[in-house]
Amino acid sequence: MKVMGYSIEWRGNENTNKSSRQGNIPKIIVNHIVEGSASSCDSWFRSAGNNVSSAHFLVTKKGEIKQYVKIEDMAWANGLTTAAISNSKAKIVRDMKINPNLYSVSIEHEGVYLETKGELTPEQFKATVWLHKYIREYVQKKWGYLIPIDREHILGHFEIDPMRKPNCPGEEFPFETLIKVLNGGDRMNEVKEVPKWQKEALEKLVEKKVIESPEYWKEKLGESITVGEVLGIISKIVK
Ligand SMILES: [Zn+2]
Repeated sequence: MKVMGYSIEWRGNENTNKSSRQGNIPKIIVNHIVEGSASSCDSWFRSAGNNVSSAHFLVTKKGEIKQYVKIEDMAWANGLTTAAISNSKAKIVRDMKINPNLYSVSIEHEGVYLETKGELTPEQFKATVWLHKYIREYVQKKWGYLIPIDREHILGHFEIDPMRKPNCPGEEFPFETLIKVLNGGDRMNEVKEVPKWQKEALEKLVEKKVIESPEYWKEKLGESITVGEVLGIISKIVK
């Protein structure tokens, strides 16, 4: 399997909004959806007319990674008023009782909620996995703190700010898979329930004797299947 290498393109300029972390260590990674294209986000984060927002990183649908604010600095991505802090869904936000921007690293993902509900392209998913690892290693090296891989520390904007940002990054954002992969979980061995259309397609292949050992698959079709097994079938068909 091809191993992808990534590089981060620095895109921040003199207009990009940022502030001091005031001595706070980054403790959480917050995921966002752009609500637009990567290029619109890129121009906005570099625009003199933007005095309201920024994020540390942007991951495009093609899997490119761009950076606007240094991890050492605070981005203006998920700020809260003192009143809104107590309404946050995230325990850490209610416990810390300060502006979450001070202790978060934010990642924007190219996409529009109404089109994707936060689902990522395969390239985008792989890039954001790599970026989450990069951020954790960076923070550990710099501050000696290792951001835990769990849903208390790898968050969505909607959890920080449920009132104003209920759809950021969207209900299809793959938090569970992301955490599994970051924990060293293997997507290939992930067991999935077989969707009806796939089951029908597989049954046809067994019927037509395209795939070997139809007995095995007949049994398998009744239960569950791993991603690796699906890929195995596909490679047999290709052969
Ligand atoms: Zn957001």
